[in-house]
Amino acid sequence: MYTPQDPRTQYPQPPFPPQQQEGPGDIHKMDPAPDHGETTYVGNGRLPGRKALITGADSGIGRAVAIAFAREGADVALSYLPEEQAQAEEVAQLVRDAGRTAVLLPGDLQQEQTNVQVVADAVEGLGGLDVLVINAGTMPTVDSIDDFETKTLDHVLEANIYPLFWLTKAASPHLEPGASIITTSSVQGFQPSPSLAEYAVSKAGIANWTRAMSQQLIERGIRVNGVAPGPVWTPLQPAFVPNEKIEEFGSQTPIGRAGQPVELAPAFVFLASQESSYVVGETIAVTGGMPVH
Ligand code: NAD
Ligand code: MG
Repeated sequence: MYTPQDPRTQYPQPPFPPQQQEGPGDIHKMDPAPDHGETTYVGNGRLPGRKALITGADSGIGRAVAIAFAREGADVALSYLPEEQAQAEEVAQLVRDAGRTAVLLPGDLQQEQTNVQVVADAVEGLGGLDVLVINAGTMPTVDSIDDFETKTLDHVLEANIYPLFWLTKAASPHLEPGASIITTSSVQGFQPSPSLAEYAVSKAGIANWTRAMSQQLIERGIRVNGVAPGPVWTPLQPAFVPNEKIEEFGSQTPIGRAGQPVELAPAFVFLASQESSYVVGETIAVTGGMPVH
């Protein structure tokens, strides 16, 4: 990933084989296998001694961020759903292989109390907290307003929006000046697909929350920023997107292919590190050329 080359052909391009999974999905059932940096990401001491809590850390973007953070010198607490235990343990092993501490925190973040407990356990297990990556998310597709159900929207907001407030409120007493909070929005928050209205409104909300909260928390020396990924090859896709769209996944981007989770990690590393000291309230697009803003 460090060798200069044509980015259009650096990773797999469509068509992808048709495939479907039950949510939350398993990276080992994906074809082609996604790249989270397991054998590719090399750290450079950019997060020395940082203590980071990452949600959705078992798979996809969160897994890539956890691997990168550990190799940059951070200790990492991993939040994930209980049924993802096996994948989370693999990430924990990779963190330990990098010589860092890993803390495993299974739980459903749709419950406020779980968010409070996850933060308390991360603080205890890491001996403090100075980076919070709020990345977990769900993405049901609903093709028609005729099929809208209140419970779907409740579920999306409880999984994608409420934890922003719950985790940040629980974490803020522990965060010192220099701490960083990073959200995961989406290109969908700026250019919504017709069948993703519930999800897209949550992702627009995340970018909006990132701006609002950044203005509150910079008063305490804490920076809040976000990343807006384009289409990325993670279990979210075969778990929620129908096969006809999987086959062409990523072809709508100017770069002509899906992103790999490892390609998202450097933006999170940048926002977590002191290198981004003057970046506040921004959502960085990592979209293969799809515009946001
Ligand atoms: P992923 O499925 O690998 O990660 C999502 C994770 O969210 C799951 O692994 C799970 O651990 C966690 N999660 C979901 N519901 C939860 C709940 N109720 N409680 C606790 N944890 C829960 O997929 P990903 O694509 O890496 O997703 C990470 C983030 O990236 C999500 O916020 C997603 O919306 C966002 N995103 C993804 C894409 C993409 O194309 N893959 C594009 C834009 C944004
Ligand atoms: Mg997962």
